Amino acid sequence: MRVLVVEDELRMAALLKRGLEEDGYAIDIAHTGPDALWQAREFPYDAVVLDRMLPGVDGIEVCRQLRADGRWMPVLILTARESVEDRVQGLDAGADDYLTKPFSFAELSARVRALIRRGAGERPSELVVGGLRLDPATRRVWRREVEVELSAKEFSVLELFLRHPDEVLTRTRILEHVWDFAYDGGSNIVDQYVLYLRRKVDRPFELRQLETVRGVGYRLRAEPVRELPE
Ligand code: CA
Repeated sequence: MRVLVVEDELRMAALLKRGLEEDGYAIDIAHTGPDALWQAREFPYDAVVLDRMLPGVDGIEVCRQLRADGRWMPVLILTARESVEDRVQGLDAGADDYLTKPFSFAELSARVRALIRRGAGERPSELVVGGLRLDPATRRVWRREVEVELSAKEFSVLELFLRHPDEVLTRTRILEHVWDFAYDGGSNIVDQYVLYLRRKVDRPFELRQLETVRGVGYRLRAEPVRELPE
């Protein structure tokens, strides 16, 4: 197992390297954000231990760029500040775990072990399908570069479609994912919301991406088709 340690403080970097090598990992060190990005693109790491405070590009940005590049190895962020905001930023950037300095090496070692066991899963921070882009963290949506304002429910329905492009989703499935148990209306509500969504993400752009599959449900096409206004 090969682990990249990104830490600008030389003493800390050396300590991490020695400790993790004793655990049996092959360790590479990067001292700056740009070096970390270059190394992570070049070599197949099984995990990255990433200091948040780095000169140049900080740890959060390094993590975000790795995910944007489609690199999904587990990332553990080391942060000097114990703040909720810091953690949220790290997790939103696609980090898997974080540890506040100062920490015990035993804890770092256990967390790295757990992350490597879990392995790399695809967890795109943004969902992009055929010109539609949705950011689950900030709950924002764009068609190409144009931001589209959605209500909370519209957002949830669209997110479900974006997670299953080209798949037919039945009304029941959409209901179960988006509405809670307390909702006891009919599945007509789904038709209603698909209609709202089309008015916002398709029609203004003269496209049809959300389509009806008669008698079954709805499908978000991976590529929209041109549709001139009626
Ligand atoms: Ca640092």
